[in-house]
Amino acid sequence: KMFENLSGRLQGVIKNLRGQARLTEDNIADALREVRMALLEADVALPVVKDFIAQVKERAQGREVLQSLTPGQAVIQVVHEELTKLMGTDNAALNLAAVPPAIILMAGLQGSGKTTTSAKLARLLKAQKKKVLLTSADIYRPAAIEQLRTLAKSLDVDFFESDISQKPETIATNVLDHAKRHFYDVVIFDTAGRLGIDEAMMAEIKALHTLLNPIETLFVVDAMQGQDAINTARAFGETLPLTGVVLTKLDGDARGGAALSVRHITGKPIKFIGVSEKVDGLEPFHPERMASRILGMGDVLSLIEHAQKNVDLDEAKKLADKVKSGKNFDLEDYKSQIQQMRNMGGMGALMDKLPAQMAGMAGQMSGEAGDKAVRRMEGIINSMTPLERRKPELIKATRKRRIALGAGVQVQEVNRLLNQFEDVQKMMKMFAKGGMTKMMRAMQG
Ligand code: GDP
Repeated sequence: KMFENLSGRLQGVIKNLRGQARLTEDNIADALREVRMALLEADVALPVVKDFIAQVKERAQGREVLQSLTPGQAVIQVVHEELTKLMGTDNAALNLAAVPPAIILMAGLQGSGKTTTSAKLARLLKAQKKKVLLTSADIYRPAAIEQLRTLAKSLDVDFFESDISQKPETIATNVLDHAKRHFYDVVIFDTAGRLGIDEAMMAEIKALHTLLNPIETLFVVDAMQGQDAINTARAFGETLPLTGVVLTKLDGDARGGAALSVRHITGKPIKFIGVSEKVDGLEPFHPERMASRILGMGDVLSLIEHAQKNVDLDEAKKLADKVKSGKNFDLEDYKSQIQQMRNMGGMGALMDKLPAQMAGMAGQMSGEAGDKAVRRMEGIINSMTPLERRKPELIKATRKRRIALGAGVQVQEVNRLLNQFEDVQKMMKMFAKGGMTKMMRAMQG
């Protein structure tokens, strides 16, 4: 799972900090030492770790933390902010503001995921009603051209034919001409990758860059390569004016170091992440959400977006509106949320987007046992009166016994449901008030 070890270690540090009534220089130093170890183990580049720790340390000893009523939480907040900053602050969107066709040049080593990512991008852009043309100049591997042709066909995206007898420059000239004459909005130009960086490859892609004058030059890199990924990124960045990075295979057991280092080292934003080998496995990269995920605070925004794509849209929208407007999140909403989570299917895929305490609940909800658990939860909520659902605080001992009897469960189970509901409600309230940051603080307390 993405960032599993790093997450685990950082969450340990957080737990410790949270328990501190007072922060001293000593326990800050202890915490930072732990954070440093965790980052190094996650294969984050050393200079990045050093800068990061120095930054957090300076802020942790500053007034904002020391004068805070809850210094432990203030430090966690600092770590969250610095982690976000490390990865780029805001989502960097694809820039297609060129005289059409907008060209996207794909660069990277062989096996990094260039071809797959080209297809994934084509799929995203097609969904945005763009007229997209895919082509490959990987004349060294006939299978590569075939692979992209097949992907294009399965996506119903146009493919510009090329073959291994042509020069990459010729393919570039031809595709430009074709795309202009046929009014394509976007051309995605896949290139050859070598197993390692070599001069011929760099010269070739540089020439292609000059010919195509792309508005986006995306560097595709395999996150599982760790430190190597960073060195490759640096080499490409020195040759080509990169406009962004796509980190692939974040679904693998990547230690996460590449994600945390690549921005700092190259100065280029991570625009997308690859999260599966399937064509729908590409997500826009949001640094703040990723930081929250790493720190175990869940990624509720992505979850809601995912929900909106996969469940009853009206229901999801009602819920999202309610959250945004800050209205009370009640048991009725909770029930519909539980149902929606079931409908989304593949709870496993969502687990790392959930805050730790909700992930526990989601875990109970997957598989056959999950079906049963969800039905029981629904049964309990169904045994409540409408008033109780709107005002759960009314539910005291007598009502609890009645509800348990009605649902055919033990009182403890009613209690458990109410506790879980309270956690989620608290989170939703904070979310409505101040977005991720506030919510995160709430979850510490
Ligand atoms: P290229 O040589 O750079 O064009 O790389 P490919 O696109 O052929 O990808 C190499 C391998 O990585 C293929 O088996 C892909 O299915 C796989 N791959 C690419 N992106 C991802 C990803 O985000 N997640 C996973 N799990 N596999 C990926």
